[in-house]
Amino acid sequence: MKPIALQTLADFADGTLHHGDGTRLVTQVTTDSRKVGHGEVFVALVGDRFDAHDFIPQVMAAGAAAVVVSRRDSAWPTSGCAVIEVKDTLLALQDMARGYRAWHQPMIIGLTGSNGKTSTKDLTALIMGLRVQTRATFGNLNNHIGVPLTLLSLGEGDECGVVEMGMNHPGELKVLADIALPDAAIVTNVGLAHIEYMGSRDAIGWEKATVPANVHAEGVVVLNANDPYTPLISRHCQATVFTAGTGAGDVHAFDLRASGEGTRFKLDFAGEIVETFLPIMGDHMVGNAALAACMGWAHGIAPTDIAAAFSSAKLTGGRMETKLVQGILFIDDSYNANPDSMRAGLGTLAALNSAGQKIAVLGRMGELGPHAVAEHQGVGQFAAGLGLTALFTVGEEAAQISSAAQSAGLATTLNFPTHEACAAHLKQMLQPGDAVLLKGSRSAGMEKILPHFQTV
Ligand code: ATP
Ligand code: MG
Repeated sequence: MKPIALQTLADFADGTLHHGDGTRLVTQVTTDSRKVGHGEVFVALVGDRFDAHDFIPQVMAAGAAAVVVSRRDSAWPTSGCAVIEVKDTLLALQDMARGYRAWHQPMIIGLTGSNGKTSTKDLTALIMGLRVQTRATFGNLNNHIGVPLTLLSLGEGDECGVVEMGMNHPGELKVLADIALPDAAIVTNVGLAHIEYMGSRDAIGWEKATVPANVHAEGVVVLNANDPYTPLISRHCQATVFTAGTGAGDVHAFDLRASGEGTRFKLDFAGEIVETFLPIMGDHMVGNAALAACMGWAHGIAPTDIAAAFSSAKLTGGRMETKLVQGILFIDDSYNANPDSMRAGLGTLAALNSAGQKIAVLGRMGELGPHAVAEHQGVGQFAAGLGLTALFTVGEEAAQISSAAQSAGLATTLNFPTHEACAAHLKQMLQPGDAVLLKGSRSAGMEKILPHFQTV
């Protein structure tokens, strides 16, 4: 954070500074009481299961410069730590972020979509970093708390912030876009993620349009050339719209050559073609890279520089993360799953140019609501057509995937009650040269399979 006076932060939040030095400069705002360091500002959020006001004494003892609270307690010490009182601490955090964004004036790239936000965010930050000092959302902090924290984390020298924006419910992206006021936006795609709460794919499409529609007329929007909702979203933008994708788009990848190390491909920047290597598996990741490349290119970064940067790309963990253990290639895509990303992951495993066994180990997909049974079965049917060696699932809900795959003709399918049972079975059948895809929703914890192999 760029050093800012406590009183200025209090003003952003429409708060009252009760005691403490309003001219004191601070450089960090946090909501995690366990991580508060000396001189930081702690915002006491109130959740369903916790009330961070309970931790104020500890936070003060840790040397916080100020606490942002919605109620005060006479038991709290009155020296050393300033108290900023607000009506609602969540709104205060969002207002502080909005005010800080306007005061600091970095370029903000807002990034949303159903799949691949974090991956594309990492790649976009890599590319934009070639031109301007860039900071991106840490990990996956993409919600009504994470977006304000990301904005508040932009440091003095940071000229560009790549801000991931997620949503589960209608209206959430509008709130985030109004805080971040993006100068540029990327929509990765419009899929079925969170359909349980969104109702329909059209509703998801409208929701995603909120972020690019918020970009001002001098800004840039990059949309997925391969997504059916792109024309609709495009019509709602006042900014200049570019498209990017695989095989189509102002910037597009073609001639994809996949391997266990990643993908080689050509990137066409409106006629200028450069050979590119992305050390991350999956055609879908090439699509994400095209979006990031397009954003960089729209900001004047040379295609050759963009291609060179991709060769050292690294994503946040659990996204197509490859690990070679005892000669077995594990594709750890366990961070999350929905029907689209399941198909993308399975397709990547199937496309692997290898003579070894190809085994998918899958867990449940969450947040599908009434679509759950059909979508699990659909993934199973899809997998059966890919020529995999085997498909295993863990847990009751995921059994719908394996049984549908079996009915659709995949001979080797099994469902296991636990990760341990599945790992034990895998141990018996895996050999060097084999490849295993680990994938499921976060709640399925499919990465738990891995330690069983690292210890033997
Ligand atoms: P979340 O909504 O949980 O924040 P996200 O949109 O940030 O997810 P990532 O974390 O980048 O997405 O990736 C999540 C999963 O989706 C991973 O399994 C990844 O391999 C897969 N994925 C990434 N990009 C795409 C894409 N363009 N199409 C389909 N699946 C994708
Ligand atoms: Mg994410």
